[in-house]
Amino acid sequence: MTLHINTPLIESRPLSLTAERSIWLKLEALQPCGSFKLRGVGHACEVQHARGARRFVSSSGGNAGLAVAYAGRKLGVPVTVVVPETTTERAKELLRQEDANVVVHGSSWQEANALAQTLIGAEDAFIHPFDDPLLWAGHASLIDEVAASGFKPDAVVLSVGGGGLLSGVVEGLTRNGWHDVPVLAVETDGAASLHAAMQAGHTVELERIDSIATSLGAKRVAEQAMTCTRRHPVQSHRVSDRAALEACERFLLDHRVLVEPACGAALALAYTPGALGSYQQVLVVVCGGATATLEQIRAWLEGCA
Ligand SMILES: *Cc1c(COP(=O)(O)O)cnc(C)c1O
Repeated sequence: MTLHINTPLIESRPLSLTAERSIWLKLEALQPCGSFKLRGVGHACEVQHARGARRFVSSSGGNAGLAVAYAGRKLGVPVTVVVPETTTERAKELLRQEDANVVVHGSSWQEANALAQTLIGAEDAFIHPFDDPLLWAGHASLIDEVAASGFKPDAVVLSVGGGGLLSGVVEGLTRNGWHDVPVLAVETDGAASLHAAMQAGHTVELERIDSIATSLGAKRVAEQAMTCTRRHPVQSHRVSDRAALEACERFLLDHRVLVEPACGAALALAYTPGALGSYQQVLVVVCGGATATLEQIRAWLEGCA
């Protein structure tokens, strides 16, 4: 038994017609808490629970925090999530719905995280949103499921924030012997920390995040993400906030699933004719995201030039 579910893998007719090739979707938006995060976070929580953790602590007001809250409720372990004042009511409501103890502190994630670190007692486990080998091992199950289905893509498209999903997918490709399947790693222009790292040849800290795709807003990617780019073919792509938002709207129409702009970024690449090079069987990780509402996506679109 795992906390995450085996998600549907479907060939998208509308996306395939638009991209003029076969586009396959791994529908992580259908995980019980709305994103792929449950794979890695669920695995990390199960391991920490088995090691005797009495409480889980998170400092993510986004999908990672939600996954910790969900995992804690399922495992019967109390969860504390420290979030900054900028966290939306919607996100706090979702966390409380999972019975998490939500502590609001500070004006930035840094301040919330600093408080969270002081709360961690000897019997508590801090669950990182992207930088932990336990997370990557859990995320890798996504590729195991694709391999077990009998379908082999010739490229994988995914979004990158801190690079946890990328690290997990590369681990999954590697352990299934798919060294020849490149990853197309997509970020929004204002949150392109992997792109900056690949250009510099080492991880770098962005001065600031300037994107509505908050789930991609890691100023610096994990070292492991950089290591992945050296061991496996990874191409970096960037899309505008507007393209990510338009992809969300279009995907809602095409597949009746609402995703965050963080996921819209990966979808935007598939919706852009020509962006996929010569790949013919493309797997898109529909990473999902539970914190955006349709009203918010429409308001952002109106605010975008
Ligand atoms: C966390 C998240 C990402 C980015 O994942 P990383 O592991 O931080 O790179 C992308 N999309 C959604 C919806 C997320 O919740």
